[in-house]
Amino acid sequence: MATQTSLSPRPIPKRILKLDQTVVNKIAAGEIIVRPANAVKEMMENSLDAGSTDIIITIKNGGLDLIQIQDNGCGIRKDDLPIACERFTTSKINSFEDLTSLSSFGFRGEALSSISYIAKVKITTRTADAVCAFQMEYGLGQPLGLGKLCAGNVGTIITVENFFYNNPVRKSILSSPTEEYVRLAEFVTKYAVRYPNVGFTLKKFGQHVADIRTPPSSSTLENCKLLFGNTITRELVLVEGETDKYHCKVAGYVSNPNFSIKKITFLLFINGRSVDCNKLKRSLELIYAAHLPKNGFPFIYLSLELPPGLIDVNIHPTKAEVYFRFEEEIISFIVTLVQSKIMASQTSRTFTIQTQLPRSVSQGSSTMDIDYQASLSPARGPKKADPRKMVRTDYREQTLDAFIRPPSVINRCLHSHGGGPSGSGGKVSEAAPETNNDDELKVISVKSRLVAKRCRRKISLTSLLELKADVEETMDANLRRLLAEHKFVGCASYTTALIQHQTRLFAVDVSKLSEELFYQMILYDFGNFGICKAAEPVSLSGLMETALEFSDEPIEDPTEREAMVERAVELLMSKGPMLADYFSIQFSKDKELVGLPLLLPDYIPPLSDLPNYVARLVTEVDWTKEKECFNNIARITAQFYSFRRDFYAEAIEEEGDKAWKWTVQHTLFPAFRSMLQPGPMLHGDRTFVQLADLPHLYKIFERC
Ligand code: ADP
Ligand code: MG
Repeated sequence: MATQTSLSPRPIPKRILKLDQTVVNKIAAGEIIVRPANAVKEMMENSLDAGSTDIIITIKNGGLDLIQIQDNGCGIRKDDLPIACERFTTSKINSFEDLTSLSSFGFRGEALSSISYIAKVKITTRTADAVCAFQMEYGLGQPLGLGKLCAGNVGTIITVENFFYNNPVRKSILSSPTEEYVRLAEFVTKYAVRYPNVGFTLKKFGQHVADIRTPPSSSTLENCKLLFGNTITRELVLVEGETDKYHCKVAGYVSNPNFSIKKITFLLFINGRSVDCNKLKRSLELIYAAHLPKNGFPFIYLSLELPPGLIDVNIHPTKAEVYFRFEEEIISFIVTLVQSKIMASQTSRTFTIQTQLPRSVSQGSSTMDIDYQASLSPARGPKKADPRKMVRTDYREQTLDAFIRPPSVINRCLHSHGGGPSGSGGKVSEAAPETNNDDELKVISVKSRLVAKRCRRKISLTSLLELKADVEETMDANLRRLLAEHKFVGCASYTTALIQHQTRLFAVDVSKLSEELFYQMILYDFGNFGICKAAEPVSLSGLMETALEFSDEPIEDPTEREAMVERAVELLMSKGPMLADYFSIQFSKDKELVGLPLLLPDYIPPLSDLPNYVARLVTEVDWTKEKECFNNIARITAQFYSFRRDFYAEAIEEEGDKAWKWTVQHTLFPAFRSMLQPGPMLHGDRTFVQLADLPHLYKIFERC
């Protein structure tokens, strides 16, 4: 101890002094108003809170010299003007409880005050009951002088001059005026999309032509057209939904998976305020990753309404990044909703699905890339990764064979011919690859694409909505993530494929999973399928006869059998219009099957089961109740479409072996990745079976 004293004398404790209030306020102001864009955002929000329908923003030198914001809102009462720029003065809350009960959020009476601590502020305002306007100037939260009467319309004009005049260090770290202008213009754009009933104008000082101008009573899409252009707006899909459980309402527009832009556009509003939520952004990016080409990104605009009690905005000084309770659940709800909308717009894409490389999520230095790595290895940065958790695969990679379709996949099409293996008429088989089949299928698909694009119908039958809600409510978020991020390893058998997720290896039951996929596709694309046309019509009675012949209890008496077949065909024909309209199951006037729904491009169901499928439609559908009826048809159709061995295909396809593997890897698994909302199957029916886990294997082999 003695040596320590002699080397460095113990310092004499200094007095603790309370910082001067002005210094405190200056520090706080610097945290809230970091750049001109923050000031513009805060002041626009004030104008919106004041009920304005017209907001005009004028900017000089990127906001550094001047920000002027003029609105036609309720104005500020003359008596309140002297304290308008004092810290913690607000007309919006009285008590702490109000912070959580307000429908909007983040009112702390700090914005105007903060701005007045870093710039010169002047407010000119007039309320509806005042005969003229009143003007007051401010510095460091206080009025400079007594203010003066002046002419003016009802509303408020706030001018902010000489940004950071008293803080050269902060000023020096701002970007160029042009860049600052771009940043603040981004906020104006966002608010113009969110508030189409308010007119926004953004212009540079001295310029007559505005850079942004939206009319006061417009619509979200009209404003998107003005702000982002026709090309993007044409590709937007409406997203709407709500969950009773968390009282979360979602509305917005997202781009469909056919379309991509060079940089992600993510506009998020919670309770009317523009915010960031990186978790949500990343989760949404992930669902697009499977669809969009490399370097392609989505456009996402979402506006959420949440009970204010669930949100905490005060963690971040600029209130930019929000946190809320039940984050996982709410994000999962939103992701599922967006997913389903994308899925519903899927019929319009047909062939592109296999011809585009999935892009990596968020290019370059984005958070997603960092977090993805982090999730694989807890040791970030230059530290060596834990070998037990090293993953050498990346689910975003794709191999070249995805681009080379075996000819038999292209050539398959529905075809009937007189004698099937059983010898009875009207049997169905695969067409042998004829030269023109290739073209035929393409024509069918292209046709279905156009049909789907032009007349996509919105079907809001309660029964259907309930069936979709059942799917959404039982979706397992972990399994969803597993599917979204899996790496396909290979086919172990017809019905079992191996996939890797992070450090774990799973065996997946392709039949079961594809049944679920087709079931969901039927619900989500209800009434909007493409059509897979039969190359030749197939007689319904022929199909029924075959089904009866192969049934467990064949009917020996030919008259009885004939009567039964006739009744079955009559029943189907009577339901024909509905089956065609909603399910694209088409019959001709001559009682023949002529079309089936085209659920996935290039995917033909195992046709050896067609007679059985038609028979099940006759015997297993409850035609009396709408929900049961739709559910039965969807389930039976999904079972028929589910992937399994197809003996007809095998018999006629030279490349049979390659073809089915290609279908599993390049048609089914990409669809699982992008669309399937898996129920809690992992532990239940062994659809997913975990075969190995790297850390566990490591434990075993390390000892050897
Ligand atoms: P807060 O918005 O959190 O209340 P601010 O510092 O942003 O705090 O604004 C202080 C108060 O000034 C507001 O509560 C409001 O009464 C008034 N105010 C500010 N801007 C306007 C405006 N454009 N129109 C009407 N009142 C305004
Ligand atoms: Mg405010």
